[in-house]
Amino acid sequence: MRRVLAVGAHPDDIELGCAGTIAAHRAAGDLVTMLVLTGGQNGPGPTSERWAEAQRAALLLDVELIWSGLIDCTLVPDSGLIATIEHAITACAADVIYVHAPDDSHQDHRAAAAATLSAGRLGSRILHYRSPSTVQFNPSVFVDVSEHLGTKLAALDCHRTQVDGSSMVDSEVVVVSARYFGALARIQYAEAFAPARFVWDLSPQARETERSRSEPSRAGQPRADQTRSDQTRDDQARRERDLPQQRHQPPNEVRTW
Ligand SMILES: [Zn+2]
Repeated sequence: MRRVLAVGAHPDDIELGCAGTIAAHRAAGDLVTMLVLTGGQNGPGPTSERWAEAQRAALLLDVELIWSGLIDCTLVPDSGLIATIEHAITACAADVIYVHAPDDSHQDHRAAAAATLSAGRLGSRILHYRSPSTVQFNPSVFVDVSEHLGTKLAALDCHRTQVDGSSMVDSEVVVVSARYFGALARIQYAEAFAPARFVWDLSPQARETERSRSEPSRAGQPRADQTRSDQTRDDQARRERDLPQQRHQPPNEVRTW
């Protein structure tokens, strides 16, 4: 079982960049946490509604949500932002991290990428996802999301203020991009990543885990993945106790301008 952290500067960034991959992780029994750094105060819709939309998407994707409540368009990759991300990495014991691509026209996306590289300096798997505002992007790692594209679109649809009010959120572009990246990867639909670091785990233990997942159930015996599901629930409950209090709490201050 992997522990995954996806970092996004604004509500809906993670869904645009890697919701299909998140759904694939959950289908594989992995634990996923989404860290949303700002309330998206400069986008369409009040922050309170964006908070509610992020909650709905997290519920649909069956993941934890950490809402940092920072202010849109003010992120800088300083010690405070790095500490915020470090705290999330520690809280969910992340061994896979997804974050914005560093070459992006939005300053918050650039700051999130830079701060995550610092916060995740000891991690072995950091993968950059593409945003609509990304500039240069040369992916070399692909995740097959053919079974999860519908879930990605449904998660995006939770962000109704953006679907209705932002030209950046366009489901047609999402589908076409997934097909394009799928063609690059010689599969149907894919999400694409540019890795800062990516270690492919071929250890015997990892192979055993994959084999047990594919074994059919024996009569009267739970399948290995069913046992893992129980462990996943236990882990989820444990993490709920350990995560910082800001998780699932709305921002103290709701500002729009
Ligand atoms: Zn964004």
